[in-house]
Amino acid sequence: MIDFSMYDVKEPTIEAWKCESCGEIFYPAPMICSKCGVRRDPVTNKGWSTFEMEGPCTLLTWTRVWNLPEGYNKKFLQFGIVEFENGLRASGRVEVEKPETGMKLTTTVEESDERPGDPVNVFVFK
Ligand SMILES: [Zn+2]
Repeated sequence: MIDFSMYDVKEPTIEAWKCESCGEIFYPAPMICSKCGVRRDPVTNKGWSTFEMEGPCTLLTWTRVWNLPEGYNKKFLQFGIVEFENGLRASGRVEVEKPETGMKLTTTVEESDERPGDPVNVFVFK
C-alpha cells in the first residue's frame, strides 16, 4: 500500500466542463460541444474551462448491488444517478439509508482505490 497522504493538499474534486464559445456545460468532458460544434483539444483545452461539481442534487434513479466481489466488507453498495441544479447529471455511490427517487442529496467526492490502477475520484451522494 502506497501512502498518498502526503500529497493530500486538498479535498478531492470532480470537475465539469464549460464551452467558452457558447456557455454550454458538460460532464464528463466532451470531445466536441454539442451545442455550437467547437472541438476540445484534450491537451490544450483551449476555449474550455472547468468548474467543480458540488452542492445539492436530486436523486433520479438508484439501485442496490448485492453479492459484492471478494474484498468488500459490506453486504451491498448503492449507486444512483443524480441531477445537479445546473442540469448536469452524474452517477455515483448513494450513502443514505433509504434512497428515494426525487430526494435531495448532498454531493461529496472521495478518492477511491477499489479498482485496479491509480485511485480515482468518485461521487458519494449523502
Ligand atoms: Zn459551445
